[in-house]
Amino acid sequence: MTDSILVVDDDDAIRESVEDYLEIKGYIVESSSSAEEAIEQLNTFKADIVVTDIMMQGMDGLELTKYINNKYDIRVIVMTGFNANYSYKDAIDTGASDFIFKPFRFEELDLRIKRVQHEISLKKQHDKTMKRMEQLVITDDLTGLYNSRYFFDLIETEIARHHRYSRPLSLLMMDLDFFKNYNDTWGHLEGDNVLNELGKIIIACLRTTDTAFRYGGEEFAVLLPETKLEKACLVGTRIIESVRAKVFNPKLDTTSSITISIGATELIKNDNRESFIKRSDKALYLSKNNGRDRLSSLTEPDN
Ligand code: GH3
Ligand code: MG
Ligand code: MG
Repeated sequence: MTDSILVVDDDDAIRESVEDYLEIKGYIVESSSSAEEAIEQLNTFKADIVVTDIMMQGMDGLELTKYINNKYDIRVIVMTGFNANYSYKDAIDTGASDFIFKPFRFEELDLRIKRVQHEISLKKQHDKTMKRMEQLVITDDLTGLYNSRYFFDLIETEIARHHRYSRPLSLLMMDLDFFKNYNDTWGHLEGDNVLNELGKIIIACLRTTDTAFRYGGEEFAVLLPETKLEKACLVGTRIIESVRAKVFNPKLDTTSSITISIGATELIKNDNRESFIKRSDKALYLSKNNGRDRLSSLTEPDN
């Protein structure tokens, strides 16, 4: 609901009558007799809309509008006398959402409040949609993990942070073993089911600061900030064991299982995104070459 209103006017009669009217209309209303008092009041009263007079002793209504726009997500409707020296343009340029000339009929003020409420509700819907879209752009449909687009973004951010603050950062690169066989035996849809389960298994092995990605088809990555290699290897080993222990039912009364290989590394001095990923890929390759279903780690720079 967007029905909390702060009325600001140094004219007691106007302020009290507007407050009374809005209360009767069902709004939650508070009032202030100056801009300074309003600023104080906004520290505790969570207003959705401020209705303020422009001409007041001390700080005027337009300065108050500016202050509110800088600090809060609150809409402002300004009221002014007909022969005052303020125009609709002044008010809108300052960031007010609407403008009303005094004297006004209360019903008109109510209509303007309703219009501004509608604007707030549209903005909320828009923000929600944008958030959802932003989430979709970085999420992998099949597993619900983050996708490679976000992987490349986040790894840049984390590497920069590492170099700035000398914090440890580790990376696990993983690839399912003989997954082509699984698909060939049980079909692509069953393979998709395994990938979906893999997402859950990996997440269950992580701490809240770690982030998991579906890096490619049957390849996953986990970025572990504030984590040294030894600790990252423990997380990786936990993933390997959980994958190995998972029983799939590709057909009724038929069970199957799968394994995963992991390459682990920790960011070292002079690493960039490419060298960091390349070293973890190399470690993964070692795991594949040495029989799969295992974790290998590399710490030396790639020559
Ligand atoms: P290795 O142990 O060497 O990694 O063997 P592999 O069979 O897993 O490796 P390979 O690269 O030969 O095959 C990867 C397979 O992963 C091929 C493809 O069928 C499967 N795959 C990739 N993406 C998807 C997907 O989105 N869904 C399904 N079901 N399978 C996928
Ligand atoms: Mg692969
Ligand atoms: Mg594979």
